[in-house]
Parts: sequence; structure tokens; C-alpha cells
Amino acid sequence: MLEDKNPQRTSLEQLGEFGLIEHLTKNFSPVQPSTVKAVGDDAAVMDYTDQQTVVTTDLLVEGVHFDLSYAPLKHLGYKSVVVNVSDVCAMNATPTQITVSIAVSNRFPLEALEELYEGIALACRHYKVDLVGGDTTSSNKGLLIAVTALGVAPKEAITYRNEAGSNDLLVVSGDLGGAYLGLQVLEREKAVFQVNPNNQPDLTPYTYIVERQLKPEARIDIPVLLKELGVKPTSMIDISDGLSSEILHLCKNSKVGCNLYEDKIPLDPQVISTSEEFELNSTTVALSGGEDYELLFTIAQEDYDKIKGNPHLTVIGHMTEEREGAHLITRANTKIPLEARGWNALKKE
Ligand code: ADP
Ligand code: MG
Repeated sequence: MLEDKNPQRTSLEQLGEFGLIEHLTKNFSPVQPSTVKAVGDDAAVMDYTDQQTVVTTDLLVEGVHFDLSYAPLKHLGYKSVVVNVSDVCAMNATPTQITVSIAVSNRFPLEALEELYEGIALACRHYKVDLVGGDTTSSNKGLLIAVTALGVAPKEAITYRNEAGSNDLLVVSGDLGGAYLGLQVLEREKAVFQVNPNNQPDLTPYTYIVERQLKPEARIDIPVLLKELGVKPTSMIDISDGLSSEILHLCKNSKVGCNLYEDKIPLDPQVISTSEEFELNSTTVALSGGEDYELLFTIAQEDYDKIKGNPHLTVIGHMTEEREGAHLITRANTKIPLEARGWNALKKE
């Protein structure tokens, strides 16, 4: 598939390591005032004055976290930045810089890495983060991408996982389950394509969910919105593994329980229709699907009026005393314990 898109193939050996780094990073120019020195010295230099700094990192491994037969490299580059920016946002902080390290086998031509870096550059522009460094090395097999993101926030703005109160409301941004179902569609089409390469998939009915999988966005707008509304979340986390597992993280860290209401979970119509098509329960998809990169947070009851009716935010439940445990209240009004089951749960159904 790489060859189809990029008929030109320049081998990495032709450039050498320094030529490659120079080639891949030459079009990045810093925009953040806190970036003092970006790529090109032994280390980058930043000046955050009186703000606190948050740092986060994610490692993506070919065959484990992504499959290049349907994830285009440009999208992969974009997504590798998004997952880190999302973690910075989940601290209620503003992302400012990233580093990108890659290990790459010589089966990849230069043109493939150019595509990867196009996606990284696009994300840097979109989120206004500077590429300030990284490392480049060879691998025996496959591609590894490690991205580290830095961000800043005033000390009092930073939100942790352990400060939810037992009467707080539980709120989520956007809608859930799309990324997981997008992957199901892509995997099905890949299987069809392997049987008959002339069979071009029509993904039109799945545009939203496929985009949620291939080109997720970090909710960089939510910390800004919350600040405008005058709401400081008491705790916050981003949804990378699925709603139930993230709720349980907040509960465990904050020593509280939770009631989550099934009928409140925000679902896109495409998530509902595609769940039916795949004979999956859309609530299970939202609970266990993951990779939506929405933000999940708790707020004090008295802040409810400030977020009420906001199209980006949905109240999906409330926290309780720890001894009450964490439960899903179903549409039929039965109470079932929340479990962090992840994707395996979905496969069995
Ligand atoms: P060193 O030998 O000191 O590790 P390198 O030659 O690896 O230095 O890197 C030179 C410069 O290029 C450094 O600023 C480094 O952060 C940056 N750099 C190296 N690889 C990458 C990459 N894949 N993406 C972005 N910057 C990189
Ligand atoms: Mg190095």
C-alpha cells in the first residue's frame, strides 16, 4: 500500500542519520514564546516563567498500536501527537512543545517518513505546539514512534485524578464509542480487500466513525471553555481506554463511588446504527471501546448551572461515597457494577 501511494522510493541509507533528521525537521518553526531553543542542539531549552509544567509520553508500536495496511502514515503521525496533547489537556493545561523519537526499519523509504512527518507537522500547526527534539534510530523490524508532550498551566488550574468529591457531577465532552466502531469497519474492509483486491470499500455511511478512529482530535477546546465558564473541574482524565475504565480510575484515585446513567451516555447516530449492524450493544461500545480522546471530569454541584445546556458537555452521572461502589444505572433502572473490561469484552459478545 505504501508503494501505491508513493511510487518514488528513496532509501534511508542514501541520506544518513543527520541528513534524515535535517530533512524531516527543516519545515518546523517554533511559535510558542516558551520555546528558547528547538531542534539542533544537544537538548532543547524552554522557559515557562511562573507556570507549572506538565510532561507526558506515549509509545506507539507497529502491529501493537497501529496497522499500516489501513492507517495511512500521515494519519498515524497526526494521531501520535493527538494522544499526547490529549493527556496534557486532561491536566487542564495548555500543550506547548513535543519531542518525537522514531525507530524505523530500512523497509521504509524516505517518502514514508515524509508522510509521517506531514501528519506530525499538521498536528503541530493545529494544536500550536513546537517540535523541539527527538531521536532517530534504526529498528530490525517495524516502526516505533515515541512522542513526549510538554504543557503549562497556572498551579491552581491543574486538575488531578484524585480530587473528585463524593457529591460531584460526572461530565463528559463530545460523544463516545465512535473510534472503536470505526476500527471495526476498517478491519472488516481490510478482510474483504484481502480476499478480493478489486473490491474498493465504500466508507461513506461510516465517515464520522472512521475519522474518529483514523484522525481523532484532542479536546484542547475544553480547558479553554471551562475557564470561560468559570468552572474548575475537581478531577479530570482523558478517555483513551473506554468510559468505564476511566471512571474507575477517577473513583479509585479520589476514593469515591459513582452512579453512571445509561440513558445519559452521549452517542452519535452513526454509533447507534453501526452498533446494530455489528450486533454490538452501543452502551458496551461506549463503556469499553476507547480511543475517543474525549475528556471525562467531575465538577461541584454548584457549578451545574454554568455548564447546563452546553452542546459540548453532558452530565452522565454523579459521584457517591466510596462504599457505595461504581455502578451503571441501566435504562430498565437496574444497577450493575462497572467493570474495566476493555476491548476483550466486546470481542466475546
Ligand atoms: P544526539 O546525538 O545528541 O542525540 P541527534 O543527532 O540524535 O543528537 O539529534 C540532533 C538534533 O535533532 C537534536 O536537537 C534532536 O533533539 C533532534 N532530533 C533527532 N531526531 C529527531 C526526530 N526524529 N524528530 C525531531 N527531532 C529530532
Ligand atoms: Mg540522538
